Amino acid sequence: MLCLFCKKESQGSRSIEHVVPESLGNTTMTLPAGVVCDKCNNYFAVKVEKPFLELPEIVALRFHQAIPSKKRRIPPLEGTIGPHLPATVYRYTGGVVGGVIDVPWDAVPYLPYGGKAVLSIPGSNDEWRVAEVSRFMAKAALESMAARLLNDPVGRHSLVTDVQLDPIRDYARYGKGKLWPIHSRRIYGADKSWVLPTGETVQRVWESDFLYTSRGEVYYVLVVFGLELVINILGPVLRGYQAWLGENHGVSPLYH
Ligand SMILES: [Zn+2]
Repeated sequence: MLCLFCKKESQGSRSIEHVVPESLGNTTMTLPAGVVCDKCNNYFAVKVEKPFLELPEIVALRFHQAIPSKKRRIPPLEGTIGPHLPATVYRYTGGVVGGVIDVPWDAVPYLPYGGKAVLSIPGSNDEWRVAEVSRFMAKAALESMAARLLNDPVGRHSLVTDVQLDPIRDYARYGKGKLWPIHSRRIYGADKSWVLPTGETVQRVWESDFLYTSRGEVYYVLVVFGLELVINILGPVLRGYQAWLGENHGVSPLYH
């Protein structure tokens, strides 16, 4: 068994790899030990997933959508009371709506007394085009391909040995090459809820698929709380995706 990223023998590896981090609500899309070796798994956790999860946009999203981490903790947000008093805002987990506002002790004398003050906390925006997102998408794209081939050892072996995939593989694992562009746009509101056939109302945390175009391109599409992120698996260009969107009236490949 060879590791999907470093191509070294991975037979003795023990870590299960999460395609989308557990701290973004993924408990189902995982790769068994050895598909990604322990060394690469560890590298991704520290160098790719952690910086991605710590992006202010992701922290704000996790706070506003109350997505707990593996340790059942929702990341706090740093805000201000009035124009400049610092405050940390915490949220409870476990279905309880509410939270705690933590103000530094030396700021207490400056709190408005008996009046009203505005608490400002950052919102999440949709500009996720930085390197942290790009390398995370490169990793998730290859891992999603491997996830589809779990019962096909021959297919999975060719995924490891296919030199066409080496540029995105080396970009994800070693940061090699220039910034791999990401297409990002919102396709539905972060708060959108969906009604199941059972009548239960749920939110969609993430969903993903591949787009194969008539030009022979392959795109990986990941939607996180309605924000669609797209990476070209075969090269650091997005012109083909923009052309495909033009030909398909801007519909998301997930709903095509
Ligand atoms: Zn490896």
